[in-house]
This record gives sequence, C-alpha cells and structure tokens, in this order.
Amino acid sequence: MSKLTDFTGQMANIEDVLEPREVKGKRVAKPIYTRQVVTIVGVKTAKSRFLPVSHEGHGIETYIDKVELLGKTRAEFIARKLKGIERRAHMALFRELVEQRTNGDWQEFFTARFGKECVVPDGLCIACWNCSLFGGLEAGRGATFSRIRYFDTYSADDVVECVAMLESEEGMGIGNVIFEDISKPRTAETYHLYEYVKAGTRFPFVTIIESPTLLDVAGYLWAVRRADEHGYGKYSANHGKFDTQFLTVSTGYPRFSVLDMLEWMEAGKLENRFQADAPQVTFDSTREVVTLYGDAIEEIAGRLHEEFDAYLAVL
Ligand SMILES: [Zn+2]
Repeated sequence: MSKLTDFTGQMANIEDVLEPREVKGKRVAKPIYTRQVVTIVGVKTAKSRFLPVSHEGHGIETYIDKVELLGKTRAEFIARKLKGIERRAHMALFRELVEQRTNGDWQEFFTARFGKECVVPDGLCIACWNCSLFGGLEAGRGATFSRIRYFDTYSADDVVECVAMLESEEGMGIGNVIFEDISKPRTAETYHLYEYVKAGTRFPFVTIIESPTLLDVAGYLWAVRRADEHGYGKYSANHGKFDTQFLTVSTGYPRFSVLDMLEWMEAGKLENRFQADAPQVTFDSTREVVTLYGDAIEEIAGRLHEEFDAYLAVL
C-alpha cells in the first residue's frame, strides 16, 4: 500500500464523526474520541503588514504583544487568533461548497440540516462540520468540544528586525479610523498609529486534529490557504496576508513543539528536519505512524470535493 492509502486508512469514517445525532428532536454534533490524531506542521510567512493583536489599543495607538523567548524579543501570534480566523475561513469554504454541490442557498441548506444558519462566533448551530471541528456552545441546547488544537506561536526574528515601531526606521503605521466622518476636520481622533509585523516575517505552527476524518484534514488545508488570502490580524481587509508552507501532515502527536521549531529555524535547519527521505522528527501513536511530505500533502488537499460529497450523502 502507498503511504497515502495508509494515511487515509487511519482516518475516521464521516458517519462516525460528522453525521449529527438527534437530541430531543434537534441535531447536535457527536461527541467522539477515536484515539487517533493528525498533526499538521508548517511555517507562515507574512506577505504584507500584519497586526497580531486581539485586544483594543491604548487611545489611538495599537501595540504588538512581545515576549522574551529563547534569547530574543519576539512578536506573539496567539492560538486563539489563529483559530478564530481559520474557523471563519473554514465556514466560508463550507458555505461555498454547499452552494456549489447542491445548487442552492447555503442559508436554506443550513436551516434544513442543522436547525439554523450557523454564524461564527455568536450564532453557532453546534451540529455542522465547522462546529464539530472547532467546537461551540449554544445556550439551552448544549456544547460540542473542539477537535482542533492550536498553539501560540512567535516570530522567528527579534522584533528589532521584524516589527515596525516608534523607534524603528519605518516608524509606526498610520491608518484612518474606519468610520471617519469626512465633514469634520482631521484631528487626532480620525487616525490611529499601529505597530506591525513586517512582510517576510516567519511564524512556525503546529495544529492537531483529534478524531480526524479525511474531510477534516483536507478542509483544514484549504481553510488555511483561504485565511492566508483573506488576512489574519487587525484591519485584515488589506493587511495580514500570509504564505503557508506545509512541512508535514502526520498521524500521531508531535514529539516537538513550536519552541523546538524556533530553535531549528535559528540554526537554519528547519527544512532539513522535514526532508521526506531523511526526516528528523518523530510522532507518537498507538498505531503505525504515517508521515506525509510535499506532493502527498497536496493529494490530501485534492480529496476535498470527493470527501465533501460523502459528507453531504450522510446528512
Ligand atoms: Zn455549526
């Protein structure tokens, strides 16, 4: 058997994981734990200005969160932010696939299959593919646990090199306040200053999907690329675009972390660790570990439509 067949053979069935169950006449995502996991590892490179902040700034200024780590001051890109943006991208992809495959409105489809239009983050249906993967709560109806795990990540470079700030050559960015009233004269209230991560800055990442179906893995790969084009971070309409390089997709839990990856990057040895012919990374699983590189990852992504059709068939 090929590695790809070995990999897909370890994925859970769509019926077992993604087919909603009935609870008091309502559809809810299944609570399931297959003891199988898939780890996706890669590097995101900013291709435009990026503001990895998840809180309001002070007055008219927005600062990037910085942490001392492994001998450098690094820009922090928190797991919650990564997850939030990728969840929205996943939902946009999901709605588009529904319309493409059923020739109907996603709103009608969601209402008929899941009891409501599922809206991230405040109107979740807790029955759909997105809710099954990312988890959710609904008052009076219950909750579903997230099957996807994200980890905080940090810039490979020191903020002195990778962040535009007051003291740096570029200075802080200047932007208009979104709802600027053009009838009023321009004052300090009509613009803001922000620090930003410069294009070219790299962030390693590790994401784990529990009880994965092949559709979950393919959908995740697509959602990351959608999010890259849409943008992460604040003012994402024209900022925060990324290129993602997937280094590996493997069954099992990684025996390394984002911090190890930062050290490998420091030594210029990150890609070496993920060479298909001589990998230097290991994963833990109770079953045979199947680790995919390069084209095999694209083949997994290429299974999206086929697997989505299988999902539609069980709804
Ligand atoms: Zn939902």
